[in-house]
Amino acid sequence: MKKVLLTLLLPLLAAAASAGPLDQLRRGLDLPSAPEPALESADASHLAGDDRYWVTVTADDKYDRTALLRSGLDIVEIEKNFVSGFIRLDAMEQLAAKGFIVRSRQPIADYAARHLKDFPAGDAVYHNYSETTDALKELAAAHPAEASLFSLGKTTEGREIWCLRLNTSEKGETPSTRPAVLFMGNHHGREHLTNEVALALARHLLANKADPAIRGYLDTLDVYVAPLTNPDGAEYDIKTGKYRWHRKNTRINPDKSVGVDLNRNYDSLWCQAGASQYASADTYCGPYAFSEPETRAIRDFVLARPNLKTLMSYHSYSSLLLYPWAGRDEDVADARDRKVFETMARAMGALTAYRPQRASDLYVATGDTGDWAYAARGVFAFTAELDGSTFYPGAAMIEKAAAKNIKAALYLLGVSDDPYKLAR
Ligand SMILES: [Zn+2]
Repeated sequence: MKKVLLTLLLPLLAAAASAGPLDQLRRGLDLPSAPEPALESADASHLAGDDRYWVTVTADDKYDRTALLRSGLDIVEIEKNFVSGFIRLDAMEQLAAKGFIVRSRQPIADYAARHLKDFPAGDAVYHNYSETTDALKELAAAHPAEASLFSLGKTTEGREIWCLRLNTSEKGETPSTRPAVLFMGNHHGREHLTNEVALALARHLLANKADPAIRGYLDTLDVYVAPLTNPDGAEYDIKTGKYRWHRKNTRINPDKSVGVDLNRNYDSLWCQAGASQYASADTYCGPYAFSEPETRAIRDFVLARPNLKTLMSYHSYSSLLLYPWAGRDEDVADARDRKVFETMARAMGALTAYRPQRASDLYVATGDTGDWAYAARGVFAFTAELDGSTFYPGAAMIEKAAAKNIKAALYLLGVSDDPYKLAR
């Protein structure tokens, strides 16, 4: 009996002892997730004209993954020797010529029929644009001494990118010398959970404003929460009443495809790697850096606030806590900055059970928020990939993801007065 057990265990122990970065990465992506919600609908007829495929493609390392992003594959899931995600038919047909093996493929309508849930019915608790707007206005109205609401700017379709400010002395867009922190959600339309987490954070801070620690942050920091930075994309994703797996904003491209990937549109090594120049690709970087009103609004906000110390951009899904560089296959050069990044990521990773890692260890992708904010203004900028095993994890996931990310956000607030205290 003992011998049998040992025989079974030894390979496992050996595997654990020799786990390399990729095994660790894979484990990071395999973290426990909520049970899949019951499917409420298998009707994916609204996707009949969508020529994207869900594919699984052989990819051995981050260099393969970076090249696949450039080829127009929107990588959603990563395993040790392959990745899965969405790609348009014409781009898929070119993968073989580029040396990639497509292991499986299915039209997005078939994929969706297996994964689809009704947004309004099943996920009614999620906030669409107008509900998000109302929730933020209500918070500002209910807490006038601590909160105020302003718009970072208008989107492609003219919606406001709302930003709630938490600061007991300054309101709206007036300058402040206090250390500032920016939390953002929903750069990608289909990542609705990120809007919920950011909203929950704002609510938590205001509902608990008498708590001494939170009161201290409200009295000494300049905190901004912009839960829905791509409201056009989020609305486009749900406007048929069925999820459409829409990642980008809703710019109409010259080829009539819809959208630019906002998290590839920042001016940091723009479109050099891990982003696609195919307008129809889900990782399309746009015609030029900051071509989109949404990224320009965030750029202008950051550049106007030299007091900004830290930034958290929520994405989903993978249970990861990422820091620069994303667009260079290297660590940030400044040793002190690197220590701050690593210390913060480790701490927030411990609080969320997300795997902390340099973003480019996943794949190299240029033009994202975090790289740009750090390169342009030295902001300690993070990307959290929230829980789940789907973009649509159901209502039950909100509370779970919010609870742990509020803990991490409170940590971030606690070190944003002077991030370099972590490097001393
Ligand atoms: Zn995302």
